[in-house]
Amino acid sequence: MEYAGYVGRFAPSPTGRLHMGSMLSAVASWCDARHAGGTWYVRMEDLDPPREVAGAASDILRTLDAFGLHWDGPVMYQSGRHEAYAEALSQLLDEGRAFGCACTRKLLAGATVYPGHCRSGLRAGQTPRSYRYGMSSGVHGWQDAVQGGQSFVAEELGDFVIKRADGHWAYQLAVVVDDVAQGINAVVRGADLLDSTPRQIALRQALAPAAPAISWAHLPILVNADGQKLSKQTLATPVEADKAPDILVACLSLLGQRCAHEEKVLEMMQGGDVTGILAAAAQGWEMARVPAAPIHSQG
Ligand SMILES: [Zn+2]
Repeated sequence: MEYAGYVGRFAPSPTGRLHMGSMLSAVASWCDARHAGGTWYVRMEDLDPPREVAGAASDILRTLDAFGLHWDGPVMYQSGRHEAYAEALSQLLDEGRAFGCACTRKLLAGATVYPGHCRSGLRAGQTPRSYRYGMSSGVHGWQDAVQGGQSFVAEELGDFVIKRADGHWAYQLAVVVDDVAQGINAVVRGADLLDSTPRQIALRQALAPAAPAISWAHLPILVNADGQKLSKQTLATPVEADKAPDILVACLSLLGQRCAHEEKVLEMMQGGDVTGILAAAAQGWEMARVPAAPIHSQG
């Protein structure tokens, strides 16, 4: 895989329509990529059929298009990537970095961190239910472009699942395998994923030691009046394509961007010119202006 310039991505799960929280990630990652003259991919994280909603993937793509957030290359669907994930699992098992875990949900009930029961191998007669990555000890950290210096102690993260007991691939493994395959070197996403990042950094180093480190930017999460994260679970309102110009400008304002208050951008908003708004946003994009703390939003 060649790494020529900035390669970023937006990776929604097709569990419903895009709402303000997901739109903020889409807009920020698109602007960051376009400002850098880089590549921006869309990846559909459709690995969890029970949570998926029929038609959501195509609805998300139609919405991005209506907002002028055009992507490069074909959309990657994780549901078509089982072979790559299986290969990664066998690589990790061969290298002794992953292990089969026979623990039942009942046995692990109440444990916030995996207690390491199966780390040194299964007893005779036990069969793996899931597979886990064995975190190496020490501190795992990175410099985040929005949240600043981050560090997590391995013992607080624990050995995490990379293939689930129900047979589905875990999010952590799929994301890392796909980021490597697509040459991703910049990730802009919500701060709700902050504690996934040290796990993904460790997995990336194990699976692709030659791949460059990713530059990370974790955006503030949007919360409602009760302080709950806006999500499909808290019934966040989906964004409407016919309000795209206003929603884009609202996103840019929440992201602290100067252009959201420029007269020419407000004129383009009145005129419904999403392409013009995005061009101005990409040109003037400043990650340093994005706030770190959670944002209260009506949406
Ligand atoms: Zn176990």
